[in-house]
Amino acid sequence: MGGEPAGTCRRCGTCCRRGGPALHLADKALVVAGHLPFTHLYTIRAGELVRDDVTGGALIPAPADIVKVREAPGSRACVFFEPACNGCAIYDQRPLECRILRCWDTAEIRRCYRRERLGRADLVGHIAGLWDLVAEHDRRCDAGKLVRLAGRRRMGDLGGAAELSGMVGYDEALREGLAADGRVPAAMLDFLLGRPVKVLLRTLGVTVREETSRQETAATGGAIA
Ligand code: SF4
Repeated sequence: MGGEPAGTCRRCGTCCRRGGPALHLADKALVVAGHLPFTHLYTIRAGELVRDDVTGGALIPAPADIVKVREAPGSRACVFFEPACNGCAIYDQRPLECRILRCWDTAEIRRCYRRERLGRADLVGHIAGLWDLVAEHDRRCDAGKLVRLAGRRRMGDLGGAAELSGMVGYDEALREGLAADGRVPAAMLDFLLGRPVKVLLRTLGVTVREETSRQETAATGGAIA
């Protein structure tokens, strides 16, 4: 094994290639200081299904927000991973999970994995107006409801199509509006509002047919196929 002693990080990059870490309260200062820009983060909202890798890979509903470091475009690797040197672009400022992960002994990461996770409210909950907007989006595009409706749809129940279409339309129109008027950078929306409803539906096996015009799509959200 390259002559390295057991229990030593060989900096092979395997863990960084499997995706970015979830953030914890201990990482808040890194976000506030700009080492982890909002544009490099996204949110898995409460109720979305997540694979619980630490306890065997079962799909479970997220009990609360999980703010994660994004993957690099077209890749599963963490956006801060530098493949040419198997390095980390923010090594000295890397988040808690990266600092405690020992691939040869996962006891500590298992202990900390679900504890004191950082949520959107910890970062932007104090910004009146912006937080109201996040709360309203969560109410109208409730992730748990979305998962339930998608599950029923996969079982042949077509009853929730209008509600799902409404969620897609509201979500798309809100994102387009915020990005267009410059209130929120487009690259920050996946942190602020979570991943687009249309993308979540695709991961749940429900496709959204695109309408022919952008205007129609914003108005109707597209048709649920
Ligand atoms: S932040 Fe750095 S150490 Fe952590 S997963 Fe990304 S590249 Fe690896």
